[in-house]
Amino acid sequence: MRAFAYVAPTSVADTLDALRTAQPGTKILAGGTTLYDLMKLDIETPPAVIDVHRLAELNTIDVGADELVFGSGARMADVANHPAIKAGYPGISESLWRAASQQLRNMATLGGNLLQRTRCAYFRGGSEFPCNKRAPGSGCAAIGGHDRGHALFGGSDSCIATYAGDLGIALIAFDAVVDVVGPNGERSVPFAELHVEPGEDPTREHVLAPDELIVRIRVPATPAGRGSTYLKIRDRESYAFALASAAVGLVIDGEGLVSECRIALGGVATRPWRATEAEQALLGRPLTPQAARSAGEAAFATARPGTYNGFRVELGIRTVADALRTAGERATR
Ligand SMILES: Cc1cc2nc3c(=O)[nH]c(=O)nc-3n(C[C@H](O)[C@H](O)[C@H](O)COP(=O)(O)OP(=O)(O)OC[C@H]3O[C@@H](n4cnc5c(N)ncnc54)[C@H](O)[C@@H]3O)c2cc1C
Ligand code: SF4
Repeated sequence: MRAFAYVAPTSVADTLDALRTAQPGTKILAGGTTLYDLMKLDIETPPAVIDVHRLAELNTIDVGADELVFGSGARMADVANHPAIKAGYPGISESLWRAASQQLRNMATLGGNLLQRTRCAYFRGGSEFPCNKRAPGSGCAAIGGHDRGHALFGGSDSCIATYAGDLGIALIAFDAVVDVVGPNGERSVPFAELHVEPGEDPTREHVLAPDELIVRIRVPATPAGRGSTYLKIRDRESYAFALASAAVGLVIDGEGLVSECRIALGGVATRPWRATEAEQALLGRPLTPQAARSAGEAAFATARPGTYNGFRVELGIRTVADALRTAGERATR
């Protein structure tokens, strides 16, 4: 085991001080359900961790008339089970309770969930596998290799690893914003701009600096929240990552036409993926089974399958169509 320093600040202000003077490579620690995992695999080797898990000021949930505000330290289980989230934003609640296991959700935080790293088996598998994300310049074992779970969207010649999280798919659908603090003060990052595609540098996964702390996640209030769902298809019914998932939010007007439409895809792209073409395909139209299928087809029209993951194009189309059906029922209740 590698030795590392453990720092436990008692406030956000202390955390910023600790980050300011931290050794290069120091990591923020929240629930530890990703970070400790990767340290045990020798993929993350921080000289120190700064533990924010016990900071009460980050562990908050506020449901206001204009926006939902989640502290970055809010536990996944608490947000999933919050009565106002379940009733007003079932798609957000479902994206959380369909993730991981109850024990993990009790421990894990929203901030940590958003910055979790890919589950690509070659990335986690150790130095016998080439992996540009783990060992820059070594190649990518997944391209031309076993790519059944890899990305259909947003990949590059360097990396095709999927973004594994579920909550982020609901957040991109709902135009969430992430507030971060760092040495230069506070800034807000639209959730759609938080994660980046691998391009030529798969080691860079998001736009945050190492000394920036996510303090809160804000979701603008929308009536599409009530007409929302998160459908996750996986190899087994629980405790597995998505083969394909869809977060959908709908408003259907008095004439039965879709007046607001939000569709995002999970498990199929290198970052949370908004399906704007699919949204446009439905706006102003009645939500018939054929229209839902067509929206799914529009969502996957530019998919780029590799060797073994082509089956997830049809799976994804059906996932979007099924999610639209559920969201449509909720929107018209
Ligand atoms: C067996 C297993 C199954 C899982 N299945 C799923 C699944 O189906 N769906 C899913 O979405 N997830 C799944 N996960 C991932 C799990 O949800 C994440 O591990 C968890 O959400 C991470 O939260 P944490 O608080 O433990 O983060 P940590 O492990 O503490 O941190 C994760 C990363 O985020 C950074 N970080 C944490 N908080 C902050 C902050 N406030 N500001 C800046 N950076 C921060 C850390 O530095 C670290 O890089 C699974 C995990 C395991 C182990
Ligand atoms: S897909 Fe990305 S993470 Fe997986 S082996 Fe290739 S470079 Fe590494």
